[in-house]
Amino acid sequence: MLIQTKALVIKENNVGEVDRLVTLLTEKAGVIRAFARGARSSKSKTLSATRLFCYSSMTVWASADKYVIREAEPIEVFFELRDNIEKIALAQFFSQACMELAPQEESADDYLKLTLNCLHFLAKGTRAAEQIKSIFELRILSLSGYMPSLEGCAKCGKPEADVMYFNTLSGELCCESCGAQGERIAPGVLSAMRYIVYSNFKKVFSFNLSDESLAELSRVSERFFLAQTARDYTTLDFYNTVRGT
Ligand SMILES: [Zn+2]
Repeated sequence: MLIQTKALVIKENNVGEVDRLVTLLTEKAGVIRAFARGARSSKSKTLSATRLFCYSSMTVWASADKYVIREAEPIEVFFELRDNIEKIALAQFFSQACMELAPQEESADDYLKLTLNCLHFLAKGTRAAEQIKSIFELRILSLSGYMPSLEGCAKCGKPEADVMYFNTLSGELCCESCGAQGERIAPGVLSAMRYIVYSNFKKVFSFNLSDESLAELSRVSERFFLAQTARDYTTLDFYNTVRGT
């Protein structure tokens, strides 16, 4: 069966002399591993289209036990990522998260849109890396069934307080008078989290925060991400090492 789909290369491995085995986040078939035969030969048309973080239009042959890329035409190659170790490291964390959380062999349109937009802003440098990373973490968790509950205190329902507490294990808020359980978060940071989780995707990158609040948002989002996924992310450790945090 031939599948015509848009796809982002989220991992690449060289196989043999000229072949490449890539992991793709595709619009129509979710995360798949596909062979690009002869992709590393200089004559190959699929050479650039199957490089890491290249977004391409592809024709993929799907048989019972494997996928083979027949044709690939690059749409966007995210060149700006290549020369910056910090950006590459963050992009690799996005890739690992997609491999863990995005569906396999079924439509993953929303995951692809989220990841492409994050790579776009990361490549252009028009948003702080911490902002992009928090958006990615909170939105991918929401897509995969771990949406936090940010309407108000889980016990008394109070929507606002001078200080709220966020439980990264339950994904719930708690106010001071109900026991102050979880991480203390400032009102501005809570607003940003609500904006990220509940706003229309088209607007999700359009908010501003002070550096201090952004750092807090980033810390809480990362802890929530790790608590919910309950896995080690080597790419995240590497990113934090590169950033020096
Ligand atoms: Zn309460």
